[in-house]
Amino acid sequence: MERILVTGGAGFIGSNFIRYMLENHSYEIINLDALTYCGNLENLAGVEDDPRYIFVKGSITDKELVNDLIAESDVVVNFAAESHVDRSIEDPGIFIRTNVMGTQTLLEASRRQGVERFIQISTDEVYGSTEEGYFTEETPLAPNSPYSASKASADLIARAYNRTYGLPVNITRCSNNYGPYQFPEKLIPLMITNALEDKPLPVYGDGMNVRDWIHVRDHCRAIDLVLHGGRAGEVYNIGSNSERRNIEIVELILRELGKDESLIRFVEDRPGHDRRYAIDASKIRSELGWKPCYSFEEGIRETIKWYIDNREWWENIKSGEYLRYYERMYDER
Ligand code: NAD
Repeated sequence: MERILVTGGAGFIGSNFIRYMLENHSYEIINLDALTYCGNLENLAGVEDDPRYIFVKGSITDKELVNDLIAESDVVVNFAAESHVDRSIEDPGIFIRTNVMGTQTLLEASRRQGVERFIQISTDEVYGSTEEGYFTEETPLAPNSPYSASKASADLIARAYNRTYGLPVNITRCSNNYGPYQFPEKLIPLMITNALEDKPLPVYGDGMNVRDWIHVRDHCRAIDLVLHGGRAGEVYNIGSNSERRNIEIVELILRELGKDESLIRFVEDRPGHDRRYAIDASKIRSELGWKPCYSFEEGIRETIKWYIDNREWWENIKSGEYLRYYERMYDER
């Protein structure tokens, strides 16, 4: 393996993954990203000078471009997606086009060109919601939002390309990520940046929804291990047993920043809001020797510090097109 095609590498996890791979390996990386509202080349500041890195602006739904890039690549790691549940409720069509059709376009080119490995980056949200117990790789898929349904569909197509054509596919299903370069519409950066601006912190419903949190670098290391040692055709769950209620996270962020809890504002719940996600990651732990390096408390402190130190990065985002979206979602309700 010499060259990796990373799709969606200008987003949150993809950009962290590119940095991680360039730091830890000698591979060349092609980053194919459409630069949608959350794709941001500033996430890769410094990386563009590395001679092993090439950026291509384009969509994973563009058959010709995808064919050309896959012809030059040995493996594909597919991060490219529409990724925000709230936006999928507003406009599901683009989630089907990108997450389902785009993934199929990549899979088809990969089987024709015969890539060594195809890693489909998926999510624990495909399993739906659970009040108790943990999702294993055998848990039936039961997605509840247009976002998770589109990801589950892509997983099934990726599985079929393995079973039907023998394409060496892995699917990774990770819990909620946090860390540097996360677009400030997602819970943790939204709360940190609003608190830093002394703006209200909008919390859905009663704030008791539980998510299982993982630092993005721990996720990247897990993908690296799957890429090098995962058994073809297998699914690997990734999670670090850090279940927290949303409200606990908001309170922790306020405490760390020395801000008052009066900033918390409970808002109308998201329709179909999953109550709890919880991952059983024992397969990747035992087969590939993965374990998280970050404790949640350590990771969140480091992340808060990153948003304090990189104010310009998120202020640029929050003052642009995102401002109108934010007003529609929270201020006009
Ligand atoms: P993100 O929204 O920050 O980044 C997505 C990237 O994909 C952006 O750079 C965007 O420009 C690009 N993109 C969108 N449509 C494209 C298209 N048609 N062609 C090429 N590029 C396109 O998302 P993220 O949080 O970094 O998530 C990355 C992947 O990881 C997604 O597949 C997501 O489902 C999955 N995932 C995310 C989490 C999480 O907590 N964030 C957890 C598990 C899995």
